[in-house]
Amino acid sequence: MSETSRSLNFIEHIIEEDLSKGFPENKLRFRFPPEPNGYLHIGHASSICLNFGLGLKYEAPVNLRFDDTNPSKEEQEYVDAIKRDVSWLGFEWDTECYASDYFQQLYDWAIILIKQGKAYVDSQSSEDIALQKGTPTEPGKASPFRNRSVEENLQLFEDMKDGKFKEGEHVLRAKIDMASSNMLMRDPIMYRILHKPHHRTNTDWCIYPMYDWTHGESDYIEQVSHSFCTMEFAMHRELYDWFLDQVVKETKVRPKQREFARRNFSHTVVSKRKLLKLVESGVVTGWNDPRMPTISGLRRRGYTPESIKAFANTIGIAKRDNVVDVSLLEFHVREHLNKIAPRVMAVLNPLKLVITNYPEDQEEWLEAENNPEDEAAGSRKVPFSKELYIEQEDFREEANRKFFRLKLGGEVRLKNGYIIKAESCTKDTNGNIIEVQCTYDPKSKSGSGTEESLRKVKGTLHWVSVKHAIQAEVRLYDRLFTEETPDTHQEKDFMDFINPDSLKVINAFLEPSLASAEVGEKFQFQRMGYFNVDKDSTPEKLVFNRTVGLRDTWAKLQVKN
Ligand code: ATP
Ligand code: MG
Repeated sequence: MSETSRSLNFIEHIIEEDLSKGFPENKLRFRFPPEPNGYLHIGHASSICLNFGLGLKYEAPVNLRFDDTNPSKEEQEYVDAIKRDVSWLGFEWDTECYASDYFQQLYDWAIILIKQGKAYVDSQSSEDIALQKGTPTEPGKASPFRNRSVEENLQLFEDMKDGKFKEGEHVLRAKIDMASSNMLMRDPIMYRILHKPHHRTNTDWCIYPMYDWTHGESDYIEQVSHSFCTMEFAMHRELYDWFLDQVVKETKVRPKQREFARRNFSHTVVSKRKLLKLVESGVVTGWNDPRMPTISGLRRRGYTPESIKAFANTIGIAKRDNVVDVSLLEFHVREHLNKIAPRVMAVLNPLKLVITNYPEDQEEWLEAENNPEDEAAGSRKVPFSKELYIEQEDFREEANRKFFRLKLGGEVRLKNGYIIKAESCTKDTNGNIIEVQCTYDPKSKSGSGTEESLRKVKGTLHWVSVKHAIQAEVRLYDRLFTEETPDTHQEKDFMDFINPDSLKVINAFLEPSLASAEVGEKFQFQRMGYFNVDKDSTPEKLVFNRTVGLRDTWAKLQVKN
């Protein structure tokens, strides 16, 4: 749907309402805040398209903010990958920000809270703190350290910062309300001790701020007007606001947190923790394995930024959790590749075809259109000769009338070439067909304008000339999980549903024009699907990934909202 004809989603309604109440449009500012603890996945694409999409719509800046407060899981490699992926999707951030750049400011604010009696150092174990949390219906119990003096708190907090304690010995907690009906308000932890070097601040800090204390304040520092996060943070909003109350100045923009539903996708998992497990266990070759639902995996698989964005915009933003069928994503990439991918001929499971009445030494270079969807794509020449490969599945000795491919006594057209008739076939000792003999009609050449060239036959087959064919490794992918929702089972782990046949590697025969194909180039192998050149490819050995098959199974499906 075009931007103008589409109705506003609920997030846009929130912004429009704020604007109508006088919020200045030039103060709108958004952010996309990934934690650099893994690669971005297709779920993140929703959040990226939402935030950067709003930026484009309102001509507002969008920051790329790394939420890097947990050095035990975060790495520079992930920062680099995230930047690469957001750029590849075609979005430009205004400022590259890091929560770690605000560690000093956050620390200074924490001191102010301590001085105001709004934060204290708790010296209990995390187990004891958890035990005192109460339940949603029972209030929590106050920590015996809750009423420490300001002086003692200041000293302990400084000692925490100075590395005088071991991990777990103390934490800093906000002093809010142990009886709050919102458990998150029961004196949440603001800081913990972690003796881990940070990928940016190195060993400058050994206390690290918690998500809740960091996120809203980072939004405020950056003057983000609307901070959109996923629904699991809905209960955190009260705390987000409480923390902001402690620092916000009248003259500044007060950020507003609003929530939208996390997207889940069928036949895969989209949690960095689970994706990391797939990588570490060796089920996949890395974060960018073409079977991974990561942006880098999809890129390597042959997806285009346009198709991912079209998909994200089609599913839009929802208020409730749901599972989106991955075939919708496949639909979008197919639709885009149909427009841009040159057509070529490649035989994946070869069966030799000999044209008995075609001269032994003759070869012809036939004119072949590159893309019927795009006239500007032009044409190329493909070699034709006496011996060709066709797909095994395109020939049967006998078949009923619905089989529009080649059968004994039947005719088909060879794409861009001639009409042939199957006369006989040869089998090996196991009864497998190993060769088909046929005759061709020399007057039926495509595009020659003769009456025979215009003759309609039911089937058209792709083929490659045996003596001109180049060989390539082709990687055929299937879904990574056998289950539609692998991570929602009570008794079983998502790893129990790994599809053992998610990758099949074959040796295929290609028309020679593909010899110069470069990494990342995309093609339609006619009748077989869309393929691109994998980064493992070399001039000596081409490697192709199947991005998606040609068949559109989506039409029958709907987004499960
Ligand atoms: P994960 O569990 O995969 O690590 P996360 O939410 O912890 O996800 P972040 O790096 O914190 O990952 O996410 C950055 C932004 O992307 C957040 O605003 C988050 O809400 C959003 N996001 C993450 N996963 C999804 C998803 N599946 N659907 C929509 N938005 C998502
Ligand atoms: Mg996270």
